[in-house]
Amino acid sequence: AASAAAPRMPRRPLGQTGLEVSVLGFGASPLGGVFQAIDEDEGVAAVKEAFDLGINFFDTSPYYGDTKSETVLGRGLAQLLRDQIVVATKVGRYGANTFDFSAERVTAGIRDSLARLQLEYVDLIQCHDIEFTHLDQIVNETLPALLALKAQGLVRHIGITGLPLKIFRYVLDRVPAGTVDTALSYCHYTLNDRSLETLLPYLQDKGLGVINASVLSMGLLTHQGPPEWHPAPKPLKQAATAAAAAAAARGVSLPKLAIMEAVKDPAIATHLVGFCTRQQVRDNVAAVLQGLGVEPSPAAEAESAALAEVQRILEPVQGLTWSSGLPEN
Ligand code: NAD
Repeated sequence: AASAAAPRMPRRPLGQTGLEVSVLGFGASPLGGVFQAIDEDEGVAAVKEAFDLGINFFDTSPYYGDTKSETVLGRGLAQLLRDQIVVATKVGRYGANTFDFSAERVTAGIRDSLARLQLEYVDLIQCHDIEFTHLDQIVNETLPALLALKAQGLVRHIGITGLPLKIFRYVLDRVPAGTVDTALSYCHYTLNDRSLETLLPYLQDKGLGVINASVLSMGLLTHQGPPEWHPAPKPLKQAATAAAAAAAARGVSLPKLAIMEAVKDPAIATHLVGFCTRQQVRDNVAAVLQGLGVEPSPAAEAESAALAEVQRILEPVQGLTWSSGLPEN
């Protein structure tokens, strides 16, 4: 039976962590109901389906759905073997406008996260959206606190995340090598924004594992469109709507095109897409395998025509982004 065959999802090294992560990672923010209300049992089943199809990397945060994402993901992960999965969560962001990167808060935060995830340790702990604090606090206080948690065995590796690309250099230029293992960037390596490309040589030089999140630009590159809270400027939203319509007119899925295009560069270890249903898992795994040429696409011709058209539509808004965090960052 097909289900008994070994999964063909490729894995790539996550920087110098010694971990191998699936090219497609499970973004668990939808499990917190961030995009729409979810069926929790279906979400738990989606976690198992993902693992069965070769996905071993799971990313969450206490911020997603006000801790709900961690709780639902924890139920899903309880079905799996601990040594076969790589689990990432975050500290420092606890609400839309609630940030606390103090040593005390992040130390308490990891214990709460582990309880919700039903785990004794996480493979990766990340400072969540660091542009919302003074970056010197990350360098001088938060990262040292996470190193202490690492020494206690509660976390294995340390990462930083955020939207503006310059935050990564600021921190990485100021900490000893080996302090930070991964950089998670989001909405900057998609069909409408490839700006992460310019930072990849620097991150590779530093030996960092690069995580590209929000391959669908947080729902912008879907047929249902983005959630109400999506921060994109209007021209970008309009272009994305037009791109979705152009793909649909050719019978092609825009999310599929976006995933197929993203996964090609081996300089990026893993790409996080948010899922909460088994069907999305299957569709997105197929998109990765076809994008990498592991298996043929049954609609290759229509897809390349649609891709050319979508790229033309998105050309005028390429790289258009939005502000995030403190003005100084
Ligand atoms: P995304 O770009 O992955 O889009 C998610 C949306 O697309 C959801 O509404 C989902 O239901 C929908 N979707 C997924 N597959 C689909 C398909 N095949 N067809 C139609 N719709 C589909 O956005 P995201 O969830 O924000 O990003 C992925 C993950 O990356 C997050 O869940 C999170 O784990 C991580 N992330 C981290 C940060 C950070 O640390 N600062 C920021 C953004 C994202």
